[in-house]
Formats: sequence, C-alpha cells, structure tokens
Amino acid sequence: MTKRLKWYEPRGKPRADRGRGTTTERGYGTQWQKLRQLQLNREPLCEECKAAGRTKEGEHVDHIVPLSEGGQHELLNLQTLCAACHGRKTAADRRRRGGIGGAKS
Ligand SMILES: [Zn+2]
Repeated sequence: MTKRLKWYEPRGKPRADRGRGTTTERGYGTQWQKLRQLQLNREPLCEECKAAGRTKEGEHVDHIVPLSEGGQHELLNLQTLCAACHGRKTAADRRRRGGIGGAKS
C-alpha cells in the first residue's frame, strides 16, 4: 500500500561504538518514532512555553534527562518543546557537560 520509508540508509559502514559510547543513538529507530508520536499526542504544546504562560505548539520531543546523563528512553522522561526552547535546552545541557561546542558566557 504505502511506500516503505527507509529511516536510515546504511553507508556500507557498520555503526561501531567508539570506545566510551554515547550509546543511545541506537535507540533512535522505529521505537523512538512511536514514543515521539505518543508524546506529541499526549502534549502537543511546548511545555517550557506553557510554564512561562505562553501557548506555543511544540514540534520537538526532548529527553528531560539526556540519555547521555542516564536518562531513560521512555515517556516519563520526555517533554514537548518548540524549536527555540529545544535549542536553548540542548545548549544548556552541553554547557553542563563541560562546554563541548557550547558557548562560554
Ligand atoms: Zn517553547
């Protein structure tokens, strides 16, 4: 019926875990697509904006505790964010982890 979409096009190279892994990229498959959709159904609005009294549609699903910091890949650890809030949070997470690519202020 429908066309099959390929999420990933392997480029010949198997994806190797390099040393200390950021492991969790592996979680980003079909299961992630499902979780993400569940979260967006559950909470279609940006939660940060909502907390600040604004109503803004969220298009990003974020891990509240980043996977790299031990967060779980599950609904309880997900929140809906808009692009702006997601960008801000990602930057803040990075800074907390020691400024890899993060701006210093
Ligand atoms: Zn927002």
